[in-house]
Amino acid sequence: MVAEKKIALVQEQNSMNIMDQTRGLNYEENLLWEKGHGDHPGVDLPTPKGMKSRTGLPVRDKVGLPQLSEPQVLRHFVRLSTKNYSIDHGFFPLGSCTMKHNPRLNEKIARLPGFGGIHPMQPESTVQGALRAMYELQEILGELTNLRGVCLTPAAGAHGELAGLMTIRRAHEMNGQGHRKIVLVPDSAHGTNPATAAMCGYALRVIPTKESGRVTVEAFKAALGDGKDVAGMMVTNPNTCGLFERDIIECADLLHKAGGYFYCDGANFNALVGKIRPGDFGVDVMHINLHKTFSTPHGGGGPGSGPICVNEKLRPYLPMPLVVKKPDDTYHLEDDGERTTTMGRLKGFQGQFGMHIRALTYILSHGADGLKQVSEDAVLNANYILSQLKEDFYVPFDGPCMHECLLTDKLQKDSGITTLDIAKTLIEHGMHPMTIFFPLVVSGAMLIEPTETESKETLDHFVTVMKSVASDVKAGDVEKFHGYPLSAPRRRLDETKAAREPVLRWKE
Ligand SMILES: *Cc1c(COP(=O)(O)O)cnc(C)c1O
Repeated sequence: MVAEKKIALVQEQNSMNIMDQTRGLNYEENLLWEKGHGDHPGVDLPTPKGMKSRTGLPVRDKVGLPQLSEPQVLRHFVRLSTKNYSIDHGFFPLGSCTMKHNPRLNEKIARLPGFGGIHPMQPESTVQGALRAMYELQEILGELTNLRGVCLTPAAGAHGELAGLMTIRRAHEMNGQGHRKIVLVPDSAHGTNPATAAMCGYALRVIPTKESGRVTVEAFKAALGDGKDVAGMMVTNPNTCGLFERDIIECADLLHKAGGYFYCDGANFNALVGKIRPGDFGVDVMHINLHKTFSTPHGGGGPGSGPICVNEKLRPYLPMPLVVKKPDDTYHLEDDGERTTTMGRLKGFQGQFGMHIRALTYILSHGADGLKQVSEDAVLNANYILSQLKEDFYVPFDGPCMHECLLTDKLQKDSGITTLDIAKTLIEHGMHPMTIFFPLVVSGAMLIEPTETESKETLDHFVTVMKSVASDVKAGDVEKFHGYPLSAPRRRLDETKAAREPVLRWKE
């Protein structure tokens, strides 16, 4: 009894004084401001008695920072950092995101002093090696896509989309086609596609894909009409349902005849890399997410990198700068003053250089045969999951998938268990959830992308957990699912409210 009382007292004191409640090693992490109201000296040292300002200037007000010591601050940030679930922690089957391993070799090369220590304003003659690395990346991306004009500047996939559509807009304007104001987008598209088109001043016309999960020639023709007002189409291939667009060449031909350009959202390039080249199925411009296909980190919102690749028709209008090789084998950053047809500049300097180096390292360390195996293994892994789970969960579209597989909660829903409960169950079992409720065209969607870097053991663990959900639901053992996750630092948050009414101040 006495011992218990003592513990209770210690806990109470802890919560009062240090405000660090712990659950095992899982700390409840308060804000520094909430912790730092004690009287220990921190940043604002009390003025010693009898001290007068020697400068005669007014005494500075307190900065008002939390009164904490260095170890307290350090522990706060280190503990916070351990709350990040990352690709280095465990399985991250987030569909449409290609969360693959980031090889440490990439990091090592990007940190070489000749790459890591240079400044974008250095004279060109002093950074020839860095420019050559960028030039080689441009050449390789051009070869992999068969779209030979490459601009590395866009800082993310969505930024690449903007760059691509602005390139298309510039081409139309320069060719007397500025009246074309419509962009065709399938209803399964990633949200960034319609957002990009709208930002470029285009109106959307939606291509319905609900029936087959794909863009059919009939649906495309209907959306195209006579095509006179159509600037282009934005299509992801393979699409966000994890399916290859089989009619894409025919649709691209019709679009080209009508005078439009084909923008391919290349976020799903991991399914194709080394196998087929988008330039060969009619694409005019495509972005590549280096942080997906080419293993650079996704980061906490950045830096990503989304180079665009274009064919000869669009090359003159590419954004600047581009790295060019001069006849004397030196490299030069060609700028907007040097190419009058360019759509202009997208951002300062030349893009996320560190990501260019990481992607180039990844590509060179795999080689052409290795990259081909990347896409083959990515598709194999996704189909393994599909084949293991197709009896347990509803599969909305028949046949094999590409690099990600799509399931829904249709078989579980009547028992009150939805996609959200299944996602939370994965957290309880130490995995990041799959992408949920996307694509929007499928009700209760679960989009699962294992990538090629996951082992069969990891896939089997995932399959086992998913199967146990299906069998428990079948047996009527459903209540527990509504409570998951039990052991995460937070249980279920009102995510909609958090997005709609974000609380950005800790105190009114
Ligand atoms: C990831 C993704 C994007 C956007 O890429 P970001 O780098 O996140 O801006 C666009 N389209 C699709 C299909 C994607 O999966």
